[in-house]
Amino acid sequence: MNFSLYKESPRRQGGTHRMKIAIVGSGIAGLTAAYWLYPDHEITVLESGAHVGGHVHTAQFELDGAAHAVDTGFIVYNERNYPLFSQLLAELDVATQPTSMSFSVHCARTDLEYRGADFNGLFAQRRNLLNPRFLRLLWDWQRFSRQAQRQLELASGDCEWTVGQFFERFPYSTAFIEQYFLPMASAIWSCPTQAVREFPIRFVVEFYRNHGLLSYRRRPQWRVIQGGSFRYVQKLIRPWRHRIRLRARVTSLRRIPEGVLVRTLGREPEVFDHVVMACHSDQALKILGPQATPTERAILSQFPYERNKVVLHWDERVLPRNRRAWASWNYYLPHDASDKAQVTYYMNRLQGIDSPRAICVTLNDTGRVRSDRVIREITYHHPVFTTSRTAAQARHPELIDHQGISYCGAYWGSGFHEDGVRSATAVVNRLRELPCKAAFMRAGCDTDGTSRSSTPFATASS
Ligand SMILES: Cc1cc2nc3c(=O)[nH]c(=O)nc-3n(C[C@H](O)[C@H](O)[C@H](O)COP(=O)(O)OP(=O)(O)OC[C@H]3O[C@@H](n4cnc5c(N)ncnc54)[C@H](O)[C@@H]3O)c2cc1C
Repeated sequence: MNFSLYKESPRRQGGTHRMKIAIVGSGIAGLTAAYWLYPDHEITVLESGAHVGGHVHTAQFELDGAAHAVDTGFIVYNERNYPLFSQLLAELDVATQPTSMSFSVHCARTDLEYRGADFNGLFAQRRNLLNPRFLRLLWDWQRFSRQAQRQLELASGDCEWTVGQFFERFPYSTAFIEQYFLPMASAIWSCPTQAVREFPIRFVVEFYRNHGLLSYRRRPQWRVIQGGSFRYVQKLIRPWRHRIRLRARVTSLRRIPEGVLVRTLGREPEVFDHVVMACHSDQALKILGPQATPTERAILSQFPYERNKVVLHWDERVLPRNRRAWASWNYYLPHDASDKAQVTYYMNRLQGIDSPRAICVTLNDTGRVRSDRVIREITYHHPVFTTSRTAAQARHPELIDHQGISYCGAYWGSGFHEDGVRSATAVVNRLRELPCKAAFMRAGCDTDGTSRSSTPFATASS
């Protein structure tokens, strides 16, 4: 699999039929699609927001006279689990640096604090050396790492069990479930612990296994983009940034004989040969409205989203009180179990930011962050995963060139950057075939595609 092969396509060399393509959304999915389609087609990226990148959102600000660039959305990736994204970064020659991905829990109800990285962090509170509840948590953690996969096979067979059902069937301690398992998954998928209980357990265990979270030895090296994630976006869009329209909210699409009629807030409607929907699935359904086909409605409605309020600040009081427990990701379980749990990313450690202050990004703050220490507030929406998701994702090919509209986005996979690239790549591969066909038909030629080369990203379908 090699991205650069795409540029050598016969169509590109021969300069055949160009399509007028609208790409709705400038997150990683939309930008990847635009990056590959731009050389061959007349693309227009329509982005409702005021910045390019969607969840790639780096805040640039000054604190104590020093300039900082801090990521508030996408932060980390690793080469093992993000092969296509890593390839893209290599092709663009983007500078990256290693980071550490430790995880801490602070439970307000029990006053427990620990960091799951080493002995000093696990026993940040020395009294836990003799705390049977905490020792049971650690024991269950080991047991889960060793046995989860086997238990999963015993438990669910062919059917999809939720996390909640799994823990009803297998006895793990409440401490392990509530002070390790749920916070960890909730931090990874930026969603409340209650939503994690409804996740398919197979999805979570397979994700943990693939990301080395079930063993200490096989953990991948996580990385960040040097100077902030916006740096890769700048390089990616450099040749075609003039094709991006910001503050361009698409309000409706209509399939017409000439193509797809796109309405954007405050502009005249425009006709495109093809539209790539790189916004979230619920946003796409809203744009389609009554125009959605039964297939679009059936598939796209299977991905619910969770709203995340994100606060960028320098209030270190939201980190564990015991500094030995400070980690890259810090999970806070509030007194009231009905309150949303909070995650704080300690950005100095994650991005290697040099500041005497602790610069933090907190998700779902409920007023703990002092308002005079807030730098910025942003709202994101992140997909939550249900047991019907696998079946819906398997139908992605049906929504590529679905009557002139194709769909991509991180929601087609586990919700991360690699999934955005992978789903966009699947769309680009298919579109690559289309114009050849159209050009052949216009010229009255055979459409058996003898001039079509093999697909370079053939293994990259979603
Ligand atoms: C707080 C947070 C931290 C995260 N950290 C990581 C991380 O470290 N690593 C990782 O791999 N993943 C991370 N993720 C997951 C992240 O969501 C995905 O990696 C990925 O960035 C999503 O890309 P996307 O292109 O699918 O969607 P988005 O980036 O959300 O892009 C969709 C775009 O569509 C635009 N849009 C919506 N409606 C319209 C409309 N009507 N008209 C025009 N444009 C529209 C939106 O404005 C947006 O720009 C994080 C997510 C969150 C919320």
